[in-house]
Amino acid sequence: MIDLRSDTVTKPDDAMREAARDAEVGDDVYGEDPTVNQLEAEAADLVGMEDALYVPTGTMGNQVAVRTHTDRGQEVLVERESHVFKWELGGLAQLSSLQVRTLDGGERGIPTPEQVREGYVEEDAHRPGTGLLTLENSHNSKGGVAVAPEKIDAAAEAARELGVPVHLDGARVFNAAVAQDVSADRMTESVDSVMFCLSKGLGAPVGSMLAGSEEFVARARRNRKLFGGGMRQAGMIAGPGRLALENVERLADDHENARVLAERLADVDGLDVQDPETNIVLVNTEGADLLADEFLDACEDVGVRGTQFDTHVARFCTHWDVDRDDVETAAERVADALDE
Ligand SMILES: *Cc1c(COP(=O)(O)O)cnc(C)c1O
Repeated sequence: MIDLRSDTVTKPDDAMREAARDAEVGDDVYGEDPTVNQLEAEAADLVGMEDALYVPTGTMGNQVAVRTHTDRGQEVLVERESHVFKWELGGLAQLSSLQVRTLDGGERGIPTPEQVREGYVEEDAHRPGTGLLTLENSHNSKGGVAVAPEKIDAAAEAARELGVPVHLDGARVFNAAVAQDVSADRMTESVDSVMFCLSKGLGAPVGSMLAGSEEFVARARRNRKLFGGGMRQAGMIAGPGRLALENVERLADDHENARVLAERLADVDGLDVQDPETNIVLVNTEGADLLADEFLDACEDVGVRGTQFDTHVARFCTHWDVDRDDVETAAERVADALDE
């Protein structure tokens, strides 16, 4: 089976397993796990923030960030296809009692400064006030689009002028950075906080990081505890997480494999394939007269896995556990399957 459902499916290599076994540990709720402390310092450094917090999942990182930035009853500005809005079980409402205002970020999933200003609501006797703007890079639902740092800056500047903080869902921010050949800390320069996943392209078995100012991270630490994310001897999973931070440059291989996969699939009759910028390939199946789930069933039958994104859109994701041969084989199998 060639599993292209997500870059989360990777299994830790021997070095990561050894790092887990050998990690120095302590009780992280008391701040006494040296491996977690090292990971948090290294992660903060990598994205140019003062401090960082280790969280079990990207979803928790985003939701803790949102909770930390906002007050109950405020509005949050989100892109309408963003993960924090679309794929986190309505956590903005459930966990932070926020009202959502969606912005259409267009093909690249990034709101313009004008849209941010238009969406802003000033607090008064009748209106709740805008408490936060969230952005996403790379943009998952738009097909792993690598948003230019200048576009992030522009939206973030507009928010800042209105006194609204900005959180970046950077689950795959290193993919966005590597794809544009800019450093990760450039990608996060104009935002107040960033979440990124160790458990995706970077290959760690578990974990994400939430980074921001010292003051922000101190308050986020309390909200992590509130959400049930205060872990104890977490060095066991933070050890592999530290190794994951060394895998940033390797993401270029995933991007190259995604490009090859997309090229091959584009040759298949009936498939409309979006040019990938990072490690995500979106395939529209309408021209083949197939629903995405029918297409994916046919793929599954020939040993290739993807996920459904929309009625006619399937997603394939390249990662550490697939190489060039795998993606070429996958494309051949899909072509054969549709031929029949
Ligand atoms: C995967 C993902 C998340 C959530 O990460 P989990 O660890 O799966 O909870 C958040 N945002 C984006 C853009 C993602 O792709």
